Parts: sequence; C-alpha cells; structure tokens
Amino acid sequence: MGAAHFLVTGAGLSGAVLARELAAAGHRVSVMEMRDHVAGNCHTRRDPQTGVLVHVYGPHIFHTDDARVWEYVNRFARFRPYRHRVLSTAAGRVYSMPLNLLTINQFFGTTLSPQAARARISGGAEKSATRAPRTFEEQALALMGRPLYETFFKGYTEKQWGCPADTLPASILKRLPLRFDYNDSYFSQRFQGMPEEGYTEMVRRILDHPGITLYLNCRAKRHMAADFTHVFHSGPLDGWYGHDLGRLPYRTLEFQSFVHAGDFQGTPVMNYADSDIPYTRITEHKHFAPWEEHSASVVTLETPRAARPGDIPYYPVRLAREKHLLARYEARARAERHVTFIGRLGTYRYLDMDRCIGESLALAETYRRVAA
Ligand code: UDP
Repeated sequence: MGAAHFLVTGAGLSGAVLARELAAAGHRVSVMEMRDHVAGNCHTRRDPQTGVLVHVYGPHIFHTDDARVWEYVNRFARFRPYRHRVLSTAAGRVYSMPLNLLTINQFFGTTLSPQAARARISGGAEKSATRAPRTFEEQALALMGRPLYETFFKGYTEKQWGCPADTLPASILKRLPLRFDYNDSYFSQRFQGMPEEGYTEMVRRILDHPGITLYLNCRAKRHMAADFTHVFHSGPLDGWYGHDLGRLPYRTLEFQSFVHAGDFQGTPVMNYADSDIPYTRITEHKHFAPWEEHSASVVTLETPRAARPGDIPYYPVRLAREKHLLARYEARARAERHVTFIGRLGTYRYLDMDRCIGESLALAETYRRVAA
C-alpha cells in the first residue's frame, strides 16, 4: 500500500490534529495556512512590550469531558490548572456568571437557599404548556424568567449575534449552565486547563512531524485538489465554492487593545450585558496565566459585527433563513469524493476546541488506511 499525499487547508486545531494523525500513520501531508501563523483563532502571542501571553482572537479556555482529547493535548503542551470565571457588568453593577445562586441573590437582593432559589426562579419562568422552547428567547424565559433574561442575556446576545434573540436557536443558550449553588466555574467539564506556553506553541508541536510540510501565507485553491489523494478543508464551506450560491453569514470580532499599568479589572473576562455598550466583553490577558508575574497588562475590548468579504469569520450564524442556503452547500459537500470539510468553518457549526480535536481524531481513523 503506497502512502497517500493529503492536503489540509488551515493550520487551526482541526487541521493540525488531522495532519498529525495522518502523518503518524505514514502519509505525506501538506498543510496550507493563509495566515502567517498556526493555531487559527486560538492563536496566542507574547506581547513584546509587556511579555503577557495574548489570546489574539479572543479568549480560549480548554475544557472537555473527553478523556482521549485531554490526553491528546497533554502530549503536546504542559497544561496548568485553570478554572475560568466570568463576571458580568449589568445596569451599573457587577454580577457573578454563569447564572448561579450568588447571581440570583445579588440580583434580587435576597439570601435564598438553593431550594428557595429554584422555587422562585421556576415560579417566574414563562413556559409554553404545549411545546418545547424553540428559540434562544423561549429557552431563556422557560429557564430563568424575564428579569434575569433581560438583564444578562437579551442585550449581550443581540450584540453578539446582531439579530433579535427570538430568531436565534435555543442551542446557543444551552452552552451555559444555570446553577442553584455557589459554583461559579464558567465550565462544568471534567478536564479544564490552560497550555502554559499558549495554544500556538501547542499547535506548532502537533505539526512538528517529518511527514508534514507546512506552508504559511499560502491560500489553497480548489484546482489544487487534483494533485492530492484527498483534501481536508477547514476554511469556510462557502469559500471553497467561491460563494457561488451566496454568502453564509458569519459574525466577526473587532478588537481594541491597550496596555495598562497594573491591574485593569482584576479578572480575565468581564462581560458587558447592557445593550447601549457596544462591546460584549473586556479581556485582561495576564489573568489567564496567574502563575506568571507581569506588572503591566494587555487589555482588549471585543465588539462583534457582521463579517464582510475579507473579514475573519468567527461564529457561524445558523438562523432559520440561512438553513436553506446551508443545506444547498452541504448537499454539494456530501457529493464530493475528494474533499472533506472539517472544523468550525468547514462544517459551519459552533464547535469548541475539544470537539474539533475529537472529530479530527475520529476522521483520521477513517483515512489512515487510504492508499495513494
Ligand atoms: N451569553 C449572554 N450573556 C453572557 C454570556 C453569554 O447572553 O453574559 C449568551 C450569548 O448569546 C453567547 C452565548 O450565551 O453567544 C454563549 O456564550 P459563550 O460564553 O459560550 O460564548 P463564546 O465565549 O463562545 O463567545
């Protein structure tokens, strides 16, 4: 059986893990990355002025329940214990996130027990007796009632997604827990941590294999597919087809960063729930690495908006009206014999880092025995 020659477009987590596994199985893999760095949107970089490790495209915190994925990333990076906590500023006050007993008691000015809080919240919940919640708004009202929803979710969500919360899918809200105890850990997953030297160093090591040739500043073209046994495309699905059926909508982010002497906000991420504040959150990067010492700080304001041609896509917007267009691209993708679409952009799904890695590991199992 001769070794295959694969093309992987994009050196983010999905592409890097797949490339590594195929190379480890004895194949040749070319990875073409259009940017000048690896790691996609989890790219981290040391700020030359302060030495702070910056999450260049927004905060990325590793969390997973998948032991195989956790073992995998630990092969390539030393993970430091890190529990992510988020606060939210709403109507001039600071609250604990995600919604937990502290948030509820802060918000209502009460000292409710877990049981009493549960009773109070379910008493105010707005549920349809006849059907399950379909939209983000219905899901939120059914879970937490109107006052908490309008304070912490409606404004933030409409800024984040650029459309009314009653047009968004309920699945977005299901990312976040609602807790009736004082656990304020942002994630509930079993394994959580931060790679000590950053995600870019981890991905660099994943790609460091004699079977892999990495091309930076290199935009893969569709016609190149003919030169390879198979192509794995991790860029936007519609981009592969030159957007010829129309553009799938994405949200992009605008970042405004500055250096602050000392501690700016005392926490890594502060959300801003009010709709009259344009940004959704402020990140203070040095707090992602409490084991490091930095007197100065790098601070980033994050403002979402609709992606225009040429912008970096971050979040796929899966609204009802785009489903039709997506279905047409997906049908085309399924019919491809030589191309497989991977990752958040290639499959147009709101995937976390661990899912990208898990899916690439599974896909590599399928392709490792492919012959040239
Ligand atoms: N969300 C919100 N208020 C918050 C935090 C999150 O309304 O303070 C909503 C918002 O719609 C967001 C979703 O919950 O898009 C998922 O939040 P997550 O923190 O997972 O978003 P990410 O970090 O992936 O941008």
